[in-house]
Parts: sequence; C-alpha cells; structure tokens
Amino acid sequence: MEKRISGRTGLMALIGSPVGHSGSPAMYNFSFQHLGLDYAYMAFDIKVDQVPAALDTIRLLKMRGCNVTMPCKNEVAKHVDELSPAARIIGAVNTIVNDDGKLTGHITDGVGFVRSLQEEDVEVKDQKMVVLGAGGAGTALQVQCALDGAREISIFNQNDEFFARALETKEKLEKEVPDCIVNVYALEDTEKLTEEIAAADILVNATSVGMKPNDGVSLVDKKLLRKDLIVADTVYNPQETQMVLDAKEAGCAKAIGGAGMLLWQGAAAFKLYTGLEMPTDEYQQFQKEQAAK
Ligand code: NAD
Repeated sequence: MEKRISGRTGLMALIGSPVGHSGSPAMYNFSFQHLGLDYAYMAFDIKVDQVPAALDTIRLLKMRGCNVTMPCKNEVAKHVDELSPAARIIGAVNTIVNDDGKLTGHITDGVGFVRSLQEEDVEVKDQKMVVLGAGGAGTALQVQCALDGAREISIFNQNDEFFARALETKEKLEKEVPDCIVNVYALEDTEKLTEEIAAADILVNATSVGMKPNDGVSLVDKKLLRKDLIVADTVYNPQETQMVLDAKEAGCAKAIGGAGMLLWQGAAAFKLYTGLEMPTDEYQQFQKEQAAK
C-alpha cells in the first residue's frame, strides 16, 4: 500500500451509515491494484443531513466517483446535477460519477440483477416476471427490467408501507416505460400468486424473507415451482436461500442466488468510474483464498 499510494493517487469512496461492515473497499482496492489504476478507496460514515457537504467534498477533492449506501441513497438523488434514467425513476442513487465537478447519479442494483441473470444465459427482454417485494432491491430491479424490455411485471407485496411503493413504481413505469405491463397484488392473495407464477417466465424474491438469521423459509410453495421456470433471489446471505434450494430440487430451469447481483452492481459502478470491466473472476478467486486462510 505504501508503494501504491502517491501524491497523484485519486480518492474514491463509499458514503452512508453504517459503512464499517462494507465489502466495497476490499473489492475496489483489489480491482484498482489488479489493473494498475492509481486510485484508493475508503468508506466514510455520512448521515443524511451531511449529504450536501459530502457532495461538495467529492468536487473539492476531485474524487472520480463515490458509492452510496443507506440511508443516503434518496437524499443524494435530490442533490446531484444529473440522474440516469433508472435513478430518476427510482429517486435513489448508489453511484456518483464526477466529471470535472458535474455529479451524475446512477443506480446499478437493477443493472447488477439483470447482469447476474445474463451470466446464467437468461434475458429479461419479452419475459413475464413475478417479483415478490417492493423495497429498495425490488424497485431497482423492477425499473431496470422494464427499461430492458420485460413484457410484464407482476409485483406482490405484503400489507406494509412498501405496498404503496409498488403502486408508485407501477404509476411511474406506466408513464416512463408504457410497453411494459405492471400489476400490483397483495402477497396475501395466494390464489393470484399461484395464477401469476403459473403464467410467468421468471420468479424473483426481492423481500428479506430467507435472509439470515431468518433463513430456511420461502414465500413460495414448492408446488408452484415448475421445470421451465427461472427462479432468482436477491438475498445473498445465505448464498442459497430456501427458495433457491427448492427451485433446484424442483428441477427449475435456473436457480440463481443474490451474490451475482451484489457483485455485478459493484462491477457496473466500476465501469462507470473507469470505463473498464472489473476483474470479477480474479476478485472472486482472491475472496476464496482469503476465506480459506
Ligand atoms: P427493504 O427494507 O427496502 O424492503 C424489504 C422488502 O421485504 C419489502 O418489500 C417488504 O414488504 C418485504 N418483507 C419484509 N419482511 C417480509 C415478510 N415477513 N414477508 C413478506 N415480505 C416481507 O429491503 P431491500 O434493501 O429491498 O432488501 C431486500 C433483500 O434484498 C434483503 O435480503 C437484501 O439483503 C437483499 N438485497 C440484495 C442486493 C444484492 O445486491 N444482491 C441488493 C440489495 C438488497
């Protein structure tokens, strides 16, 4: 590190709170070093009311870019100079690119989700999707899949504050991506859920159900999983959720966990900053070696 950082090294960072647990510094610093890029990546604890000052700091320190995590994602969207189409529709930003003081906000979670499917030879274009959940992850992937040409998205959410968010997404997508049909249903309506899954090509869990420490549970009855259904989960801890395990057991066409979405949303931000592909294979190998130590 003392050899790598010089007077010319550029700074990039993650902002949000908390950030101490984040894997981003390790991933980006590994990638910069691997590709010989003269950047260093740090994580800074920034609260919502500090967002305007943080954005000024990005300009002041001439940082090329910055990742954003909770709880700052929505506030950043209000203060950057420009937004990508997905970030504008969602009203949230996880990646800021600084072009000579002009800050553009992007959201790469949905891009990461779509890429994780593509890595398994699955395209969302012209597909009918059922998405469980309408929180941060759900909204991001619903918007990106609509932008990428999904034919129909049926969103199911339980009766909580995220149900209204699903209705908002439907309204926004009707305006912004009118070719994509968006339906919103109550998760409690099991008859509708059964019917919609039977007609779907891709089923996605974007709720926190299945995530540790509450793993071992799934919102979808195993009987609804068929061989020609593609099943994907946003949850990456555990790597294989109960829904993914059930899909494998049922012989579903694909059973995709959330780790790919996490990796590829980071790689998409890396590409926005540097114009280069992140060395994902090498980083995953490095992670394996570290875990084995
Ligand atoms: P959020 O708090 O914004 O949304 C939570 C969602 O889960 C809502 O739709 C809520 O209604 C639903 N939910 C919660 N408890 C439920 C229950 N008991 N039954 C049914 N629905 C329930 O959270 P988020 O940021 O959208 O994260 C959701 C999941 O996605 C988390 O497990 C998170 O780890 C994962 N995630 C993964 C990635 C990735 O890159 N793979 C990125 C973001 C989030």
